[in-house]
Amino acid sequence: MKSQIFEKLRHASEKPLTAAREWKETNRKMVVGSFPMNFPGELAHAAGTLPMLIQEAEDPITVGHGIIYPFYCGYTRSLVDQAAKGDFEVLDAIMFGDHCVQLLGAADAVRMTLPKKRVAFYQLISSMCDPWTHGRARESFVGLKKVLEELVGNAIDDDALRSSIRLFNKNRRLIRHIYELRRTGRVALTAREMQYIVKSSMVMDKAEHTALMEALVAELERDRSTAPAGVRVHLSGHFCQAPKPEILDLIESCGATVVGDDLFHGYRYISTDVREDGDPLDALAEWYMARNTGVPCPTRVQNDIDWDGYLINAVENEKAQGLIVLMAKFCEPHMYYYPEVKHTFERHGVPHLLIETEHEGIPLEGLKTRVETFLEIVKRREAVALAN
Ligand code: SF4
Repeated sequence: MKSQIFEKLRHASEKPLTAAREWKETNRKMVVGSFPMNFPGELAHAAGTLPMLIQEAEDPITVGHGIIYPFYCGYTRSLVDQAAKGDFEVLDAIMFGDHCVQLLGAADAVRMTLPKKRVAFYQLISSMCDPWTHGRARESFVGLKKVLEELVGNAIDDDALRSSIRLFNKNRRLIRHIYELRRTGRVALTAREMQYIVKSSMVMDKAEHTALMEALVAELERDRSTAPAGVRVHLSGHFCQAPKPEILDLIESCGATVVGDDLFHGYRYISTDVREDGDPLDALAEWYMARNTGVPCPTRVQNDIDWDGYLINAVENEKAQGLIVLMAKFCEPHMYYYPEVKHTFERHGVPHLLIETEHEGIPLEGLKTRVETFLEIVKRREAVALAN
């Protein structure tokens, strides 16, 4: 049963556009693609469409080379490449995207490449603690609602939106429960399996995915196989695109046990629920602001919240022994912020390792040596600390 569930999650994770095509053929409804990281899928769901977060493709970039700069991140280059290759034909519209210059450039390139496709780009306010932040976020969601209503030709009523909010909250709660089972060592789930769980949630029909999560939680509660006793690590970073599963496998094969993460294809995506009462657009605007408090994002600015402080606390709560930072090459927000993370971890004496990833892949042999060395350092530091 568990293996059958993972088979479905794996299919949606590895072939999201194929899975969306299958859904569309069965349901005869629209598919709305969105850019990461703060798209309120609840709105597109309430409009009767399948919201799917557009994923980085595995394919090498070819035609996209002529349309977007080679020094853009792998995610944005892959987006444009997929658009140019006609892979987005299944999408009836592409919406949102809110956070960085490269994504803005990619949205323009996608719009230019697909002139007949509706591409509605909203830039959410990135200053999170100004008096107008909530109002501006709500305004963006009001605009998004209007565009969705035009697209489907129907109004989205508040009750439909509340019902979608309840469903999305339930989905997030179930995944967070799985995270908790893993953190406390009550289940053995690999980082690859956790990625299948979250990535499939980004692209699948939410009701279908939620039913799978309920079945999976029941299986895991029964199973109670305990997690392997490797070096406990927290995985951090990697916005927008999922880290390649072979990198996750390699980290674990070297003797690490991943006990927590703040990856977008991980805890960041499911960290925050939407309030279920009151005005649903107000609630979505609050959700947008609360997400940055729950898991801070370097693309946002908030005077009283720091990603590095959050990471130190997360590592402590998870009883992680070290931090592995996965940084997508050319991801500017991450590059700007990383020195603060490094400084904070050095100050607290917590070992950390930076791994820069590329769309084109990285030599795994060299990486294996680096991860093994890092885990050895963690073990020796702990041995010395115990001896003193
Ligand atoms: S936040 Fe980083 S990974 Fe995401 S689009 Fe911008 S540069 Fe690329």
